[in-house]
Amino acid sequence: MSFLSETLARVKPSPTMAITGLVGELKAAGRDIIGLSAGEPDFDTPENIRAAGIRAINDGKTRYTAIDGIPELKQAICAKFKRDNGLEYSPKQVTVGTGGKQVLYNALMATLNHDDEVIIPAPYWVSYPDMVLLADGIPVFIEASLENNFKITAEQLEEAITRNTKWFLFNSPSNPTGAGYSHDELKALTDVLLRHPHVHVLSDDMYEHLAYDGFEFCTPAQVEPKLYDRTLTVNGVSKAYAMTGWRIGYAAGPEPLIAAIRKVQSQSTSNPCSISQWAAVEALNGPQDFLAPHNEVFKRRRDLVLEKLNAIEGITCPTPEGAFYVYPSIAGLIGKKTAKGVEITSDEVFVTELLNDTGVAAVFGAAFGLSPNFRISYATSDAALEEACARIAKFCSELS
Ligand code: PLP
Repeated sequence: MSFLSETLARVKPSPTMAITGLVGELKAAGRDIIGLSAGEPDFDTPENIRAAGIRAINDGKTRYTAIDGIPELKQAICAKFKRDNGLEYSPKQVTVGTGGKQVLYNALMATLNHDDEVIIPAPYWVSYPDMVLLADGIPVFIEASLENNFKITAEQLEEAITRNTKWFLFNSPSNPTGAGYSHDELKALTDVLLRHPHVHVLSDDMYEHLAYDGFEFCTPAQVEPKLYDRTLTVNGVSKAYAMTGWRIGYAAGPEPLIAAIRKVQSQSTSNPCSISQWAAVEALNGPQDFLAPHNEVFKRRRDLVLEKLNAIEGITCPTPEGAFYVYPSIAGLIGKKTAKGVEITSDEVFVTELLNDTGVAAVFGAAFGLSPNFRISYATSDAALEEACARIAKFCSELS
């Protein structure tokens, strides 16, 4: 009898976290590495939010809290949904977890039965399929092709829905492509969902505030109010407020689902960190004025990376609407050989050789379910991005 569970054998460790770990090790070993794999802003948490955390410690807010969030944070989340998305929720419809990641995990654990299907557009955030598998469900992929700017169509969604579909997992702007659905593009998808009342919508809005060129963010329950009762809208403070380490995510949806999520959480983590919850109250209720300057910086970096990468023969990259990733295709480089004679047979080989030869660490597309591509996170300094792009260009120019 195996000691480790069979369920665990179905999943793999997060490849992005593994690469980020490798980057740390290589740097510690003295190698000149430019890490473009981590999905987190390089800004510090804003001062007022840090101060709220410190205040919480000094005020003794250091004990267990209500399972799925302190009332003050739930109120702040309700106000956020109303302010930003025009969605009305009561605190009973809100759950807070240890990052959006835990909220998504809880939701899937709370709802999936054996053989329940979850539709996931690919490329996807690496954790979605594995979380579905851990919860004993079946991930069903729809290809969001480069030709369609990494977005799926209504026809594709319609085709993927079966009797067993429990969730449609939607993420816009997307990790790893940065693709964001406009109101009309999303409406085409919600129209399909209206025809299938057994399908629920899990909307991961983690990159809501990271949008460029006037892109107007929208979320399914807002675009189609008739989906309100079967939508769980997930968000968090990690990306917009540069709070990845504080681990606070949240969601709003139907009360019975929120109660089920509370049950999972009550028997796992008990509650999210008390101090972080108070910091998140300040993040959501406090001034939002740093978001626009942060976005200006991100947009400048996005444009820098796009210009440099698109100038490389064999690489194609559409302009993403949001997040802080680009997902270039290397279709034009497959079959070529490196200066050392290694054939680029896949994006994994490309990324490995790139790291070996140049010290630039990116993530291979196969990890996100669409190849041959690689993901670059441009949430790092302009100087590092300039240098990384120069190294990538040199590496590619030496392929033959
Ligand atoms: N959803 C997406 C698409 C992400 O990229 C991430 C983090 O990388 C998360 C959810 C989870 O974020 P957190 O757990 O930090 O709130």
